[in-house]
Amino acid sequence: MAFQDILSLDIARVRGCCIHVVGENGRCLHNSTSLDTLSLYRSILVMPQLSPIDQAIADELGIPVSRLLPETLWRIQWQYLRETFHHAKQTSAFYAKHFQGIPQISSRKDWENLPLLTANDLSQPEALLGTSQSAVERMVTLQTSGTTGSPKRIALSTTDLQRTQAFFAHGLSTLLRKGDRLAILLPGSMRPMGLLDLITKSVEPLGINVLLPNPAIRTNPQQLCAWIFATKPTVLLGAPSLLQGLLPYAPTGFPHLSGILASTEPLEEACKVALAQAWHCEILNHYGLTEIAYGLALECPAHQGMHLRSLDCYVECIDPITHQCLPKGCVGEILITTLQRKTMPLIRYRTGDIGFLRTDPCGCGSLLPRLGAILGRLSLLPNGGWQWIHKPKGHHFGMPPSS
Ligand SMILES: [Zn+2]
Repeated sequence: MAFQDILSLDIARVRGCCIHVVGENGRCLHNSTSLDTLSLYRSILVMPQLSPIDQAIADELGIPVSRLLPETLWRIQWQYLRETFHHAKQTSAFYAKHFQGIPQISSRKDWENLPLLTANDLSQPEALLGTSQSAVERMVTLQTSGTTGSPKRIALSTTDLQRTQAFFAHGLSTLLRKGDRLAILLPGSMRPMGLLDLITKSVEPLGINVLLPNPAIRTNPQQLCAWIFATKPTVLLGAPSLLQGLLPYAPTGFPHLSGILASTEPLEEACKVALAQAWHCEILNHYGLTEIAYGLALECPAHQGMHLRSLDCYVECIDPITHQCLPKGCVGEILITTLQRKTMPLIRYRTGDIGFLRTDPCGCGSLLPRLGAILGRLSLLPNGGWQWIHKPKGHHFGMPPSS
């Protein structure tokens, strides 16, 4: 059977067949519709190709992507972990005390026995600095959950922010193509080297038009929907709860929409299914934290875990009670260590987020470890146990935006 015109494809004739209709670069060229004008779910038309995040890692290492194996990556990460430990201990007052009596790291076991870094430790960032104050480009303040914790303050250098910008450029090219119109529905305002600025600078060179709604309408789903209908974005970037709040006002979707990037809070399966069924578009999940300069991991269209920026961060999962490192695939609290970061390195930082690491090959061809779905926030129980709870961290209707 030959398909000469995707726009006239009779889906009823090919039900049960496996269909791939792609362009020269392996991507869908059209947001196709069936004869009754309903959009076809885009992902069935996309042939997963290697995540551009993996390609960027191979490029930075100067090796062919075919040689980007888990053991290759681990050798590089291990070198970075040791360098980060020594740099932090020698240059930061906090880490000099934190790692007192630990002269060096010689094995993975040594690493896994290092003390953990908590949110409270980030309230005095000056003590964590591994460089002079003049190297700090942005100092970001974050309120901790609850009412008793001191605000976290994160010092980021120009290099840290530029590396995040590069990660966004590689990662967002998973979904965005030249000519796309990206509507950023995240909270916050445009400021130099802030999150919105970094996203904008990362995609504009790709030929993407960035659309930003007036902050006044972001908390009003009806007005936000009207803005989306009027501005015709092809891709939305926003928190799942915010996007789900738009469903009653756009039950059959938006005419030009082909993709969604979900970020700032866990993407629950029920929400993903509701959006996919109503809006018939690709939905990719992103996980990031302000503490590590915003971006960390992004799904590819194979939907088999989020690809990590593995030359900037090392991810572990631990038992939140015993602090023991868990085998890959086991659910626990996510720890992050920043790599190649000199200004304010984070070593075994407790995120409070619950998830797991995947080591099975991804459908896109990647063999590197990936982050599975974020399951929720850590909640300690009076009986000494723990569980995870669903607690949106981002901005959603009816609540003031987080800063
Ligand atoms: Zn993949």
